[in-house]
Amino acid sequence: MEEPTVLLAGVVQDSIVDGPGLRLAVFTQGCPHACPGCHNPETHPFEGGTPTTVRELLQKLQDNPLQTGVTLSGGEPFCQAAPLAAFAAACKRRGLEVAAYSGYTFEELLELGRQDPGVPALLQQLDTLIDGRFVQALRSHELRFRGSANQRTVDVPKSLAAGRAVLDTSARWNG
Ligand code: SF4
Repeated sequence: MEEPTVLLAGVVQDSIVDGPGLRLAVFTQGCPHACPGCHNPETHPFEGGTPTTVRELLQKLQDNPLQTGVTLSGGEPFCQAAPLAAFAAACKRRGLEVAAYSGYTFEELLELGRQDPGVPALLQQLDTLIDGRFVQALRSHELRFRGSANQRTVDVPKSLAAGRAVLDTSARWNG
């Protein structure tokens, strides 16, 4: 069987800007949202990038045992939900926190999950989702880990249990 593979735009070790703590930030290649003012336009094409197996991605974690979490970003991580779900599950087994950014809202992801079983599989592995497109007019530097004020910090386990978006208002993510 072919190994699950992610098309990567890049990774950043020891990131402190993609969530609380020291994180491995994983940037996926390919995004359908085309938000005006996007900071990562080079991640939009679905061609290019570096095919990376989940096993290779996990090896990047071993580069730094001090990392406490992983953040999936993009690009649009949910366009590669199935292999990222496998990666996220392995991260969780290692006791790491897993967060993801998505241009889709939580509600859109529930809808998308009806066609792509990878989407609910990835949601089930997440602690936190920063959701929604980047809206330039709502951009603020005061938002700690969000680009624009329409984006939400969603507590994913609570949201899946409730069947609606439940926000994470903790100081860790919002302080
Ligand atoms: S969802 Fe993110 S990567 Fe995609 S266009 Fe919007 S800001 Fe850029």
